[in-house]
Amino acid sequence: MAKKELVEKEKREKAVLENERQNVEEELEHLREFMLAEVDVEPDEGDAEIFEREKNAALIAVLEGKLKDIEAALRSMEKGRYGICERCEQPIEAERLEVKPDATLCLNCQQEVERLSRRNRPQRQFNW
Ligand SMILES: [Zn+2]
Repeated sequence: MAKKELVEKEKREKAVLENERQNVEEELEHLREFMLAEVDVEPDEGDAEIFEREKNAALIAVLEGKLKDIEAALRSMEKGRYGICERCEQPIEAERLEVKPDATLCLNCQQEVERLSRRNRPQRQFNW
């Protein structure tokens, strides 16, 4: 790929990431407001309310993780290291970056990291 095309591509990806970061931040703010809001729960609606809150807490954790990934990707762009795997230093697959512009690991390393973290905490993995 020509250098100019590469710069153009990176500019587009940066715009996508910045846009995504804004969306995630707005959603986080919204969710946190919901969590802070005083709730007046009818006794028979208590379970649903608790379920909503648990779902929200999980979503907040996922979004916070995503925000971190986005920021890491933006930082690596500034350093001119965008698209380079943080673990093995190989270029991240172009198709992977199309789907997940905030990826900081190549597919191999991502799978390896997920495998290791699954072993440590058997939790449901959210696939963003
Ligand atoms: Zn890698």
